[in-house]
Amino acid sequence: MQQIQAPKGTKDIIPSESHKWHYIEDEIRKQCELFGASEVRTPIIEHTELFLRGVGDTTDIVQKEMYTFLDKGGRSITLKPEGTAGIVRAFLENRLFNEPMPQKLYYLYSPTFRYEKPQAGRYREHHQFGVEFIGSYSPKTDAEVIILAMTLFKKLGITQLGLHINSIGCPVCRKAYNAALHDYFMGYADDMCQTCRTRLDTNPMRIIDCKVPQCKEIAKHAPRTVDYLCDDCKEHFEGVKRCLEATGVEYKVDPDIVRGLDYYTGTVFEVVSDRIGAQGTVCGGGRYNGLIEELGGQSLPAVGFGMGMERLIAVMENNEVNFPAPPSVTVYVAAMGEAARLKAFALVQELRSKGISAEFDHMDRSLKAQLKYANKLGSVYTTVLGDDELTAGSVRVKCMADGTEEAVELDRLADYFDMK
Ligand code: ATP
Ligand code: MG
Repeated sequence: MQQIQAPKGTKDIIPSESHKWHYIEDEIRKQCELFGASEVRTPIIEHTELFLRGVGDTTDIVQKEMYTFLDKGGRSITLKPEGTAGIVRAFLENRLFNEPMPQKLYYLYSPTFRYEKPQAGRYREHHQFGVEFIGSYSPKTDAEVIILAMTLFKKLGITQLGLHINSIGCPVCRKAYNAALHDYFMGYADDMCQTCRTRLDTNPMRIIDCKVPQCKEIAKHAPRTVDYLCDDCKEHFEGVKRCLEATGVEYKVDPDIVRGLDYYTGTVFEVVSDRIGAQGTVCGGGRYNGLIEELGGQSLPAVGFGMGMERLIAVMENNEVNFPAPPSVTVYVAAMGEAARLKAFALVQELRSKGISAEFDHMDRSLKAQLKYANKLGSVYTTVLGDDELTAGSVRVKCMADGTEEAVELDRLADYFDMK
């Protein structure tokens, strides 16, 4: 019979990979805790309307990449294509605005779905870690969000990353900027893709983010947001830069970053690697002062980022970061004969109940094969139980690192390892 394969653009995370994820997730939790952020978990499915309004209906994500379907009740449902809209919905629905500001929230292990052409670093299901700091206008908050990401990279031993920042302005400066963009792109309308032609009138800034090569080429010389910032946006952007400089975080101002989601205002940033091929953006984020109101809340500022876990792992592998070894079993209890096998089974359960990882033979292996298996599991200690040991009520425990052995009474075995 033909084997069923995972859907195109999805990946299994098998044991030889999952320990890497655990390591990174532990580091992320630690960093978030240090920065005072708390975890929020939102559903994988949301009403499609949330993303139409949140992400923006002229964006690539909404126009081309969403997994949208009608459920059995005829409701339009979408698998989340990004994390921020869901967090903001949860923030409003759970009235977190009544809590002290800023609310520092993060999400982790968040499956994210985009119907894209699968290739290295681009999947139809990927995972994001992200933070959203809601309630503060201060440029210090933008800088803190950026610093959280950069600190994490450093902790994980990643050195080859560039921080690119830009400001795309507020609705005030956006008006003049959009007019300038419209004038510029009008001259190239015939050479742009169909989607971009419609964007000319609806949302010209989206053209800059188009992945079609011709459009990219045309966009190269388009007017830049930094030249159209109002005084407030200029001052805010300078404030962010000052905070980064005060903490020794290196950055490059990159006027080409506009980000692919409509909710951004002011600061935008990306953290980029040049070592993992074309899909080099590991982390992207920025300020979104209009989104909360757009989704039905009061006017509240916010800033955050999303980080692609798969790309993060690719960068780490490329940077030859040493992941900690997968956890190995502490004690392997080998046994010969049915009575000893039963005792070994019971001992292993007892050891585990005391918090000591232990294993026995499930497969009726010979003693030699059991010891080989113990070795494969990387057991720290190995002990062999036979009729003689049962009669004597004691076993020899071998430390695999140095080969030393010690006699231990069976009744005291768990305590023996407990004290190690
Ligand atoms: P790109 O320009 O590469 O398409 P994006 O701007 O669409 O990225 P964001 O919406 O900012 O990406 O998502 C945040 C992060 O999630 C990205 O920086 C990236 O690391 C990761 N990411 C986005 N889409 C994918 C995908 N299809 N597969 C794997 N990771 C992804
Ligand atoms: Mg994309």
